[in-house]
Parts: sequence; C-alpha cells; structure tokens
Amino acid sequence: MSVINLGIIGGGQLGSMLCEAAKKLSIKTTIYCDDVNAPAQNFCDEFIHGDYSNKEKIYKFADKADVITYEFENIPFETLNEINKLKLVLPKPSVNRLIQHRLAEKDFINKLNIRTTRYVLVEKKQDLETLQDFLPGILKTTTLGYDGKGQFPIKKIEDIKKINIDFSKGYILEKLVKLKQEISVIITRFGNNDYEIYEPIENTHEDQILKFSKIPADINEKIFNLSKDWSIRIAEELKYIGTLCVEFFIDRNENLYVNEIAPRVHNSGHLTINAYNVSQFENHIRAVCSLKKIPLKKISNAKMINLIGTQINQFKGNKKFENNEFFYDYLKKEIKEKRKMGHITKLI
Ligand code: ADP
Ligand code: MG
Repeated sequence: MSVINLGIIGGGQLGSMLCEAAKKLSIKTTIYCDDVNAPAQNFCDEFIHGDYSNKEKIYKFADKADVITYEFENIPFETLNEINKLKLVLPKPSVNRLIQHRLAEKDFINKLNIRTTRYVLVEKKQDLETLQDFLPGILKTTTLGYDGKGQFPIKKIEDIKKINIDFSKGYILEKLVKLKQEISVIITRFGNNDYEIYEPIENTHEDQILKFSKIPADINEKIFNLSKDWSIRIAEELKYIGTLCVEFFIDRNENLYVNEIAPRVHNSGHLTINAYNVSQFENHIRAVCSLKKIPLKKISNAKMINLIGTQINQFKGNKKFENNEFFYDYLKKEIKEKRKMGHITKLI
C-alpha cells in the first residue's frame, strides 16, 4: 500500500510536527479537529473543522485519506471505530480505548508484571474514608485528563471534606510516589519484534506540566535497560503500530514504576527532531504509512525547554539563537496560562 494522503485527528502542536515530518517524506496531510483555531492548520495540506461526533464531516475526512492516525488520545472510541470501518486507523482504536482509561491502562500494565503506583477505583466520596492506606495520594479522573488536569492531591484524611467533585465521572486514587526523577521512553513499532527505540529521556515537571526534557537521563544502567525492556514489552503486547511513549517514575530507593502510556508522539520527544537522524514524528509516519524503517542514530545530547503561557513572548520576533539552539513557535492564536506555546531545543 502506498500512502499519498495521511489523515490526522487532532490539530495541536503534535499534529503540526507530524505534518512537518510528513512533508519531508512527500506525504500529504489532512487534519480533522474540533478547534477552529487549531494551530496545525498552518502546517497541513488540508484542514477540516468539525465536531468528533459529526459523522458527515468525518466521512468526508476519511474519504480524503489513505490511512488515519491521531495526535491525542481523548477521541471517542466510537468515532475511531467508525472511521476504522472506512479506512485503516493506526494505532488500532482498541489500543486507544484501553489507554484512555486510567484504570484499564494500569490493570493492563500490572498484568504484564510491570510495576505501577498503587491505585484503587473510587466510586463515591465515602470510599475515600477507608483508603487511608493510599494517602498521601492523588485523585485522578479515569478519563480525559492531561497536563495535570482532573487531578486532586489528598494529603491526609481531613482533606477529604474539602473534595467537591462529581464522582460519577470515574476516579482513581493513586498513592503518591516519593519521586527522585521522572523519565520517558519513546518507541516506534513497525511490526512483530520490529521497532526503533530512543534512549530514556529525563523529564522535569512544574505544576504537573512538563517543563524540561534532556538526554542523556541521569540514571543508572539497570534503570536505563529496564525502562527500555518494559517499553518494548508494552508495545509488543499491544501489537502497536506507530510511536508510543511510556512515562516512568523513579522513587528515592531507585525503584522504577510506569506512570502512564501515551499512544502517540509525546512532548518529551520533541528533542528527537534535532538530536537524532530520525525524529519520533518521522518514525510515526514511517510506521503508520508502511515506509522503510531506518536505524536510529543519535546525533547529539540535548535539552528541551517548554515555553508555557507568556514565556513565549520573549522569543517571538527577532531573537538571535545560537547555532545549537532551535526555537519552535506553535503559532497558537491565544496565550493562556499553563498552555504550551512553543519550545526550544538546545544541542549540548
Ligand atoms: P497527566 O495525564 O496529566 O500527564 P500524570 O498522571 O502523568 O497525568 O501526572 C502528571 C504529573 O504529576 C506526573 O508527571 C508527576 O510529576 C505528578 N504525579 C502524578 N501522579 C503521581 C504520583 N502517584 N506520585 C508522584 N507524582 C505524581
Ligand atoms: Mg503524564
């Protein structure tokens, strides 16, 4: 199958970077997004604005594409499934359904004998009173959370009184890990035991939002290898096609935990654009469009800095960058607090 037009659901910065990578491979892109101001419309060949439940528009979108992929995980399963009847959707919709639900995702990881934080389903506020054992902890929505949204820290049992949320939306309580570090591993799987994997990336969060990523991660060899082994196991078990990211916690006793899986390209992998011969975006396109796999080669160590909210302003315009610095402006129309507006990668 030769892919001429790739359909991408979602029009944020990840979509934009996928379009840029596709262009390099002479593949045309059509973006479908429910945000009329989606920044990826500046980078794609065609942009279709519509709701994720608008069947007519979705059919029109599917008609244009040879293969369809997505840049964020919170797409209704029904939508992906409908599209999959018309055109091949990669990664498979069932993978997305599993991962978009925190409880199903963590159960799946544990079944592979891979460690996660301790967690428990919370169905009503009274449940929390018996869960002392999970405190201090974080209450998290089972679906639709990102960048720390839908998360409520609970330090002690008295804090429960202050919690005022609609439990019918589905929550889990997760025991807080005494974090030493956070890392992520990005892997692109092309088929059975056929993948390319990037070295672990060390991540620093501020206010639960990624702020810095760097390679090499300052970790020991055991964690370096184990995080890669677990990521391979997860990708193989899911029979995943495309780029996937596994986020990890390392506690103060050097124990490794999987935090979550992102069934897509990931913010921590932005540095792969400049630090490797093939970026996570290009690899994703190659895998979902059945193109040739190229062996990964690291070009340089690197550090990525996210520009959040108004932090972008000081770099817009004529600011001179050094030869080893690369500035990316996501061209978002509106600056919002806690919104990722751009990033800088520095080769080191
Ligand atoms: P999101 O889906 O918003 O990315 P995460 O579960 O990855 O949600 O949480 C965002 C960040 O919050 C993590 O990267 C970490 O810094 C912190 N965090 C989340 N859960 C825990 C936990 N159980 N223990 C310690 N820190 C946590
Ligand atoms: Mg996360």
